[in-house]
Amino acid sequence: MTGGKRCARCGGATDEPVMIGAVEAGSGPGAIVYACPPCARSYAEKWYAPEWLRAELAARDAPGAPDTGTVEPRESPR
Ligand SMILES: [Zn+2]
Repeated sequence: MTGGKRCARCGGATDEPVMIGAVEAGSGPGAIVYACPPCARSYAEKWYAPEWLRAELAARDAPGAPDTGTVEPRESPR
């Protein structure tokens, strides 16, 4: 169950939120910015889009990719 996320670009709710970035707050954990798949794809076309976003979308498009659902954002252990 991944519903309830709201696209940061078009404002619509999406069942398949794609993480497109993170907002760093001065204090506190900040916030993850999500977009719906269509918006994430158009965002990925932008020059300022992070490279990992293109990789993320490519992974989603890959045939036979394991259905892992929404990847929980977490601090990288390394
Ligand atoms: Zn959207």
